Amino acid sequence: MSAKIIDGKSLAATVRESVAQTIETLAAHGVRPGLAVILAGDNPASRIYVRNKVRACEQTGVRWELHEYAHDVPEATLLERIEGLNRDPAVHGILVQLPLPRQIDVSHVLDAVSPAKDVDGFHLESLGALAAGRPGFVPCTPAGIMRMLEHERVPLAGRHAVVVGRSNVVGKPLALLLLQKDATVTICHSKTPALAQTTRHADVLVAAAGRARLITADMVKPGACVIDVGTNRLPDGKLAGDVDFEAVREVAGLISPVPGGVGPMTVAMLIANTVRSAMQIHAI
Ligand code: NAD
Repeated sequence: MSAKIIDGKSLAATVRESVAQTIETLAAHGVRPGLAVILAGDNPASRIYVRNKVRACEQTGVRWELHEYAHDVPEATLLERIEGLNRDPAVHGILVQLPLPRQIDVSHVLDAVSPAKDVDGFHLESLGALAAGRPGFVPCTPAGIMRMLEHERVPLAGRHAVVVGRSNVVGKPLALLLLQKDATVTICHSKTPALAQTTRHADVLVAAAGRARLITADMVKPGACVIDVGTNRLPDGKLAGDVDFEAVREVAGLISPVPGGVGPMTVAMLIANTVRSAMQIHAI
């Protein structure tokens, strides 16, 4: 039997609707949530991501501002801008679109963002809070995946979750979130031998490696929940996930597609974090 497909687009719309209600509450207090986006360099994928985020702001009524810089921007210029945004009372969220140009130390820039406005959850303090199980902003992609699993009522306690990928933006924070829900978590990465031997035991399998169609049907336990985070551009310009969708859907019980799965949820969680930040900053 074919797997149920998780509709990330429709769930993202539901998240945006609930956020819209909070925006009305903020408006009643004279507050409009604001997101500042920093984009440096001319990475075409980054431009698309920023366009999607800005569009979501417009759809929900979040004020946005875009600060664009050339690829040779000095680090000090970005740090100075972030300092200004940290102090700006109209800005509740600051997002630095990654990757940054080579001459810039990413950690300097991410750690310059005030943790109170760190809606991407990439500040060392946010990641530390997540690891310690304390409140803080959670990176948007892992947060969106957890919302998907919750919506689909995927059992996690005592189940085996396998995360393929160990980046600071997806794999590691997601593993921590799954652990918080009492899953037994295995993280696989580029040096993991015999990947299939581990993925085949996963009740929940998350593919976040950035390798088109890495996960094939024989690597999936029948009935498993498979979440595809990968967004890979194929030579013909089409978008492909990390999962061989057509074959894996015949084995899995639940599967998220690319596009229309994790991507829209990531953007929705960014908006949700920005609105939450506005509520916290204004103590509403
Ligand atoms: P990354 O390159 O920082 O990390 C990739 C990870 O995958 C690394 O930890 C690496 O060890 C592991 N890996 C690479 N090849 C592997 C292999 N053959 N077997 C096992 N592990 C392997 O990437 P990232 O930023 O974590 O993103 C991962 C993917 O998710 C990319 O395709 C990215 O575009 C996508 N992404 C999508 C969204 C979204 O909203 N849809 C958000 C973030 C990232």
